[in-house]
Amino acid sequence: MRFADADADFKTAKFGILGVPFDATVSYRSGSKFAPNAIRVASWSLESYVLQYDVELTNLPICDLGDLEEYGNVNLIIDAVEREVRKLIKKQIFPLLLGGEHSLTIGSVRALKVKGDVSVVILDAHLDFRDQYLELRNSHACVTKRVSELLTVKNIVVLGVRSMSKEERCCAEKEGLKYYTVDYLQEHGIARTLKNSRLKQNVYLSVDFDVFDPAVAPGVSNPEHGGLGVKEVKEVIDVLAPKLVGADIVEVCPPYDNGNTSVLAAKIVRDIIAAVWKCGHMHAEAKAKSMH
Ligand code: MN
Ligand code: MN
Repeated sequence: MRFADADADFKTAKFGILGVPFDATVSYRSGSKFAPNAIRVASWSLESYVLQYDVELTNLPICDLGDLEEYGNVNLIIDAVEREVRKLIKKQIFPLLLGGEHSLTIGSVRALKVKGDVSVVILDAHLDFRDQYLELRNSHACVTKRVSELLTVKNIVVLGVRSMSKEERCCAEKEGLKYYTVDYLQEHGIARTLKNSRLKQNVYLSVDFDVFDPAVAPGVSNPEHGGLGVKEVKEVIDVLAPKLVGADIVEVCPPYDNGNTSVLAAKIVRDIIAAVWKCGHMHAEAKAKSMH
């Protein structure tokens, strides 16, 4: 089973979809390891033409690389993600990872560090700013913290937050982490907030699916009400597209889904691809080829 319209081979690909079916540090509902395939199955229910961007996906050099073949603890998985993403960057392929749990972002960002000038935008209901959780430093609950150590805290922006511990809040404020709650975004607007957050030339986007309201996306590991809507997340993609160099979609949890969450995840993957392609900063040669 591959992602719909992702039938380019690795040699010619400009977008690489990689599944990371791993959820071992889960703290509440497990099952996000089933997400890569659930999202692939759901992708076939959508038209290959993306209306909003006027992009026909069948013409695009998208390759489904299958799933990461690595088993073991979270540190081994993160190392393996880093290796795979490094390979993609070297070949100028845009990495698009399907989790799995949020910790895979740490591996992805480690690989992307080589590009220099990288900011990370994290969409998440949770701050994920614990130093460790259940004695694990690379837990899904520590992602923002680890990523902020990799790129320094000023290069991280978290959007859609509405849950954190008191300690996380203190620590984030002490360190100067830029995080914006749903209320803040609704008052100040997404485009303006992103514009004011001084993003670098290259941006990596991590979408923890619990950023959506659970009424929109019920199938997640840690649902938290009062979240963002589809339109708001699409605005984030739209604003960031000219700078995007990679992305991940994590924490979709099929055993708790009514089907809609996987379809939305597939849609977000396609929107990211279409938006980035439309900006035209992908390889010009590949673009010319697809015109014929
Ligand atoms: Mn979360
Ligand atoms: Mn998270």
